Amino acid sequence: MKTPQKPDISSGPRRRLPPAAWAFIFALLLSALLLFFSLSSYASPLTPLAGLARLGQAYGFSSLPSALCPWLLFVLLCFAAPFFPGWQFFLPTVTHGPRDRNRVSLSFDDGPDEDTTPALLALLDKHEVKAAFFVVGSKAARHPELLAAILARGHELGNHSQNHDVFLMLRTSARLQREIEGCGQALEQSGVRALAFRPPAGIVNPRLKSVLEELGMFCVGFSVRGGDWGNRKIRGLSERILRRIRPGDIVLLHDCRPATGREIPEWLGEVEAVITGLKRQKIELVKLSDLLGREIMIIPRQQGK
Ligand SMILES: [Zn+2]
Repeated sequence: MKTPQKPDISSGPRRRLPPAAWAFIFALLLSALLLFFSLSSYASPLTPLAGLARLGQAYGFSSLPSALCPWLLFVLLCFAAPFFPGWQFFLPTVTHGPRDRNRVSLSFDDGPDEDTTPALLALLDKHEVKAAFFVVGSKAARHPELLAAILARGHELGNHSQNHDVFLMLRTSARLQREIEGCGQALEQSGVRALAFRPPAGIVNPRLKSVLEELGMFCVGFSVRGGDWGNRKIRGLSERILRRIRPGDIVLLHDCRPATGREIPEWLGEVEAVITGLKRQKIELVKLSDLLGREIMIIPRQQGK
């Protein structure tokens, strides 16, 4: 296994204030300043900061509602940020690799599945491509043989929660932790400790940061997806991805079963078209850990731990 420049991220992540905390502080200070402008219009012009207040009033920041604007913006940001993990607003989230090398990585979510995953593994073997599988814990626990097959062929595994609850980010921290640990246990049954967590539906929340820090994990998103809605919209998948691909991208695909079994060959055809299309564009397909330059999983037994 190649391991150049892959730091062990489990050793003490640095705890920095997330941008959300800075945005809160900024909103607090700005609203205090605007409140000062608004109140000092009734105060004596001889107060020490009267000049500053007059300046604010000159620009129209003297009404009480203007002091609420920073909070309104902050709240809007808090509502939008969970859907855009790449903003890193609540927590550091890896969404792509370096843009200066012509390499991308494929990732498959929501499996494993007894029909689609083995067929996909055969296809990836045929093209000598290694991918990352972000598995759902409840499915992984039912199919340890599929996890073994994924590992035996040199692919990587990540944690995609125990039950793939799309409203997981509205739950408590304890529930969030249980969901991640549940999937982690299913992976550990197969001898793997996942370091990378991909949240269901790619949605994050402010509580995820401390939960992942506690578990020694980090958050991984993606930068390109084919809009397949979990393999419910397969037609045109490869075209949508190839149109948007850029160096460094993490491509989101799914290996859950399409709506009907009849669509499995069509889905495989689309995945193959993605692979051959990328190769035609001379884009190298690499493992996610190689793209990111850090491990996304460890195999404790191999490390003698
Ligand atoms: Zn998913």
